[in-house]
Amino acid sequence: MTETTKQSANTDCLQEQLGYTERVKKLISKRYAQQPLAFVHTYGCQQNVSDSEKIKGLLVSCGYEMTDSSDDADFVLFNTCAVRENAEDRVYGHVGQLKHNKRKKPGMIVALCGCMTQQPTVADKIKRSYPYVDILFGTHVRHRLPEFIYRHLAFQERVFENSDSNNDIVEGLPVVRDGTFKAWLPIMHGCNNFCTYCIVPYVRGREYSREPEAVIEEAKQLIASGVKEIMLLGQNVNSYGKGADHGVNFAKLLRMVNDLEGDFRIRFMTSHPKDCTEELLHTMAECDKVCLNLHLPVQAGSDITLRRMNRHYNSQEYLKLVKTAREIMPDIQLSSDIIVGFPGETYKDFKCTLDLIEQVRYYSLYTFIYSPRKGTPAAEMPDEISYKEKSKWFTELLERQEQISHKINESLVGKTFKVLCEEKGREDGHIIGRTEGNAVIDFCGDESLIGTFTSVQIIEFDGSLKGIKKY
Ligand code: SF4
Repeated sequence: MTETTKQSANTDCLQEQLGYTERVKKLISKRYAQQPLAFVHTYGCQQNVSDSEKIKGLLVSCGYEMTDSSDDADFVLFNTCAVRENAEDRVYGHVGQLKHNKRKKPGMIVALCGCMTQQPTVADKIKRSYPYVDILFGTHVRHRLPEFIYRHLAFQERVFENSDSNNDIVEGLPVVRDGTFKAWLPIMHGCNNFCTYCIVPYVRGREYSREPEAVIEEAKQLIASGVKEIMLLGQNVNSYGKGADHGVNFAKLLRMVNDLEGDFRIRFMTSHPKDCTEELLHTMAECDKVCLNLHLPVQAGSDITLRRMNRHYNSQEYLKLVKTAREIMPDIQLSSDIIVGFPGETYKDFKCTLDLIEQVRYYSLYTFIYSPRKGTPAAEMPDEISYKEKSKWFTELLERQEQISHKINESLVGKTFKVLCEEKGREDGHIIGRTEGNAVIDFCGDESLIGTFTSVQIIEFDGSLKGIKKY
């Protein structure tokens, strides 16, 4: 398909759905005496949070008002996550509870979407066992929500749509953002990497990037609306633009966003180490609005485990990349994801992870005990270590990381940082600010500072960072 026909297909699709929003509006004005309320609950990652913002935009366009209470809502939607099986069990539990809400309020519409519902087995189970679920749709067709609501309202049909054939990005969807000064900006969807423990490529499909012009246009709108921090999102942002003919890779896109006028900063996630280039590191160093903060998930320190995970790098290559990043940006703060107890991992392998975190000295870690995910290759691998044993390793990892983070925090005392003031502190008259390296500082300040940048000197670390505002 040529770019022009793809663009016009997307425009047609947007227009079609905007047409449905008008039809839904008419139907709900007849059905409800007052403006109906919609409740959206999001499970899982930032990508899902970002998707939910678009879903809320569509619901508001359809005539709903958003509410924080599922009890009051006339439309309840769960945007689900498939990364862990216990997260799926939680969703089933929450959907089960909706049965009572629906009994009390028979006209309530119950909808499910997201990575979990993209799986045909899940969709079948919901269809059979949860007859009060009215609408279910997958990750590839979420822009068609107005059409699904229309079909349900107009024909009383249960709408189940989780086809994976539609991989076009529909631009221009309405959006209701959760935050006022921090915003998610998805630059791509899907993933091509097939790490053996991960379900994402199966439920979100192959990688596809948004056009750079669309990303820049959205960034401009965010900046104009007062957003101070833009998080560029993708499962692997480093492979942005691969296979597209516009010639803009992630480093170039970062530079384009950085060049926009305005007082804001830029973060991005997630970066796959195998695609993290020196060009990107130099770009980060040269772009004043890009935070000196890199989330570079290593997952494990053992080469045997990394191979089984299908991560396409070994520990030496990873450490070399970290060294290069630090040579180019001496003040960069690093963070990572670690999986403890991957199938086949021995204590000796796990010790390699401990050695690696000592060498890298991450500012923070997102740590998980491996849990099998049905449908992935790792779930079929022999796994002989007990959960109890893995939990011991996990505690050892946390303790080691705690010491590293503690030392880094102590080294920040006396330094002054530009922080984005994010929320009220625990004590009255205090504010919490975040540095570009992700250090969180509590300092005396007025609430009116929230959503602005200010300079703060760190004066103490007693388990948390304390600072004073510099004038
Ligand atoms: S890079 Fe690996 S872990 Fe990340 S989304 Fe893709 S398959 Fe999953």
